[in-house]
Amino acid sequence: MAPDPRIAICPGSYDPVTNGHLDIISRASVMFDELIIAVVNASVRKSKSVFTAEERIGFIERATAHLGNVRAVPFDKLVVDFAREQGAKAIVKGLRAISDFEYELEMNQLNRSLASDVESIYLMASPQYSFLSSSGVKEIATFGGDVSGLVPEEVARRLQEALGR
Ligand code: ADP
Repeated sequence: MAPDPRIAICPGSYDPVTNGHLDIISRASVMFDELIIAVVNASVRKSKSVFTAEERIGFIERATAHLGNVRAVPFDKLVVDFAREQGAKAIVKGLRAISDFEYELEMNQLNRSLASDVESIYLMASPQYSFLSSSGVKEIATFGGDVSGLVPEEVARRLQEALGR
């Protein structure tokens, strides 16, 4: 009998996906049989998103099509519940600075108490993306700055249309 596929989820708001996210996704995709990018549909933490969940998913799908084992789906429940529903044993997160660490440590403890069977795995951000965030990219685009090199070309164009002035 074939072993169960190793499935992991990568949760986040991805509003929009950045080259930092894509770096983590491509590095994680070689570690698992299947990588599911879980895109927050109704975030309770963050303010309203610039792009709809469908748009954010489209950006991710087109930027990861070459990887072959990655798909993006919306979710609006506890990450651990979603992981279990998908048959995932792991949650993969990217870690940038100390601030990410503090938040992730808290989330890790909470998730562990809710679901000790789902392990969280952290990949360190590549140095060139250590200070790259979706909110930073949106701020740059709002003031007409150049975001090419920080996000996929399609995303840079759409950001300019949505936020540029
Ligand atoms: P953001 O904080 O940019 O809004 P998300 O909420 O979409 O990002 O985060 C999804 C996941 O991607 C989180 O684990 C976050 O730490 C990680 N991540 C975000 N940006 C980067 C980056 N530049 N390098 C590595 N990981 C990142």
